Amino acid sequence: MSASIVGVLALQGAFVAHERALRSVGASTLQVRIPADLDKVQALVMPGGESTTMSKLLVSSGLFDVLADRLHDGLPVFGTCAGMILLATEVLDGREDQRSLGAIDVSVRRNGYGRQVDSFETDIPVTGLSNPFHAVFIRAPKVERLGAGVEVLAECEGVPVLAREGSVTVASFHPELTPDARLHEQFLRHHSII
Ligand code: GLN
Repeated sequence: MSASIVGVLALQGAFVAHERALRSVGASTLQVRIPADLDKVQALVMPGGESTTMSKLLVSSGLFDVLADRLHDGLPVFGTCAGMILLATEVLDGREDQRSLGAIDVSVRRNGYGRQVDSFETDIPVTGLSNPFHAVFIRAPKVERLGAGVEVLAECEGVPVLAREGSVTVASFHPELTPDARLHEQFLRHHSII
């Protein structure tokens, strides 16, 4: 079998930094912009950016429904920040026309930590990592409810910030913005991609 390709949703946002991180731990990557791109990948990263814009572009590109089907079939996906919002079952303080894929049973509040000026960085312990991860939060979504099947991998001041349910992993921070690719590596190893 040929090596797996990890897609990076490249409609908008911080996708280049994710590609760099994935490649640094040995993955082959592909920028995903149209449904045919999605057919070629065995896992997907959904980056931070602006979830309202990405929601619109997912619909207009024809990706939304195809992606929903792939997620339903168990495509491993790692959504960070806006990517987390797009994967959640419930989005609080979203725009009325904003859609989410409902792939992980969490309720998240957009900009739940405040606005741009309230962006912050902090070191957090993560399940499976031997020392803390430097997490960068930028207008981050805040988890306000977790479904029973969701495993919390990291918390910040008692609030889940890294969580997994089945094939879906979400982070409210930006693991691609530091040189530390351990979370990308953990995601890929968990799904036997590297
Ligand atoms: N607040 C942004 C949104 O609602 C997410 C911020 C980010 O991805 N850095 O989409």
